[in-house]
Amino acid sequence: MNDTVTGKALLDDADRALVDGVLARSRRALAKAITLVESTRADHQVRAQAVLEALLPHTGRSIRVGISGAPGAGKSTFIEALGLHLIGRSHKVAVLAVDPSSSLSGGSILGDKTRMERLSRSHDAFIRPSPSGGSLGGVAEKTREALLVCEAAGFDVIIVETVGVGQSETAVAGMVDVFVLLQLPNAGDELQGMKKGIVELADIVVINKADIDPTAAQFACHQMRNALSLLRSSSLHWRPPVVTVSALRHEGMDALWNEVERYRKAMADSGELEARRRRQAVDWMWTLIDSGLRLHFRRHPEVRRHLDEIHRAVERGAMTPAAAAYRLLGYLHEK
Ligand code: GDP
Repeated sequence: MNDTVTGKALLDDADRALVDGVLARSRRALAKAITLVESTRADHQVRAQAVLEALLPHTGRSIRVGISGAPGAGKSTFIEALGLHLIGRSHKVAVLAVDPSSSLSGGSILGDKTRMERLSRSHDAFIRPSPSGGSLGGVAEKTREALLVCEAAGFDVIIVETVGVGQSETAVAGMVDVFVLLQLPNAGDELQGMKKGIVELADIVVINKADIDPTAAQFACHQMRNALSLLRSSSLHWRPPVVTVSALRHEGMDALWNEVERYRKAMADSGELEARRRRQAVDWMWTLIDSGLRLHFRRHPEVRRHLDEIHRAVERGAMTPAAAAYRLLGYLHEK
């Protein structure tokens, strides 16, 4: 339902209560609102958009931190240590995840109850596993919206975890203010990251497990600084620092968070933080338009009628890809 004057979606009483519940930091309302946002049902999507629109004026006041690293790098141990550190300093911390493989594997990062056990027991923390939305786009879309819900509920630090493989890093970097990359002190690890282009996304690099071999960690730190100095910095006002920590022993969290704060200040002072968020919002709009158009295309009756046959013709070489695309797109104009 839309208000015809403002174009805004209208809330029914139950959803108004849900919005009020989120704003009052009710955990139940928060979980319910995220479930609504994650639902793929068309009627739920309409309600979710109305709820999000009502929450929007209350969003944007957190620092959004992306955390990535290969499996085993220590992400969940690190997020628990950092989360507890921040809660000890009166922050409220929400942890979300983007793991497109979760629908295939049946599990999900953050899904395992034993992960971040202490953090999950804290009243000042909220932990939500990755939605199982199928495609990366679907998963990222829902996580981005869940992030807004958490902000409206007053969480002032939002951590978005992602697995250190595939394209999910780029999706997460596109929704956070600062992207933190976790690395192990093994020689060669940073080069693996370089290959995948993940190091280029990092605003801060963390060498974890420094307790195992402090000398190796220092060496890795030095190597990483050298590697980073060869990359073109994405900002004139920031060169990504390298910090060593031990997530297991909860060491180095202060130094790491100081870097996050320093980063935020540098970006805010130069206007880049706002610019980054504006760019992310516009990119996000276009992503949604692209996926909406694709869906509209696939659902069109004429496209559905001819798609398989044209698909096969292209495979056989009986039709050029361009002719096929023009033919299929042309069906959109037919009633
Ligand atoms: P994830 O797969 O990236 O989430 O990694 P986990 O947090 O599950 O950690 C993988 C393993 O590394 C676990 O056995 C952790 O206890 C261990 N680990 C994580 N951080 C540290 C650390 O700082 N020092 C040591 N010695 N082990 C760690």
